[in-house]
Amino acid sequence: MDTKQQEKERQKLLEQREQLLEDIALLEETLRGEVDIDVEEGDPDVIEREKSAALLATLQARLASIDDALRAMEEGRYGICERCGNPIPPERLEVKPDATLCVTCQAEIERLQRRGMVAPRPRWGLDLEARIGEE
Ligand SMILES: [Zn+2]
Repeated sequence: MDTKQQEKERQKLLEQREQLLEDIALLEETLRGEVDIDVEEGDPDVIEREKSAALLATLQARLASIDDALRAMEEGRYGICERCGNPIPPERLEVKPDATLCVTCQAEIERLQRRGMVAPRPRWGLDLEARIGEE
């Protein structure tokens, strides 16, 4: 990957990071503010709260993944799959600048995860939202 593209992806990541930090702060605020001990399970407030908590976890995982990618850039291993060491195609990074795995490894990890064979590793950039949606 050339420096120009990397710089472009870095800008993208930094922008996403800013946005994420804002969203996370907002969600944390919401979660803090809504403590009501009278609510029962199944109460719409509780469901909303659980949704917010799940979303918060997703955003934090995404933030961790972005931080990983930024660190990889600093250490000069950006664009290299952290599992097999092969280069990650620039087209993939274009779509998913925080990718730290090549498509093959990503698919492999997700396949193993679906079978419950590896613990979830948010820093692998797995699609947590999709998984939460399946539950
Ligand atoms: Zn790989």
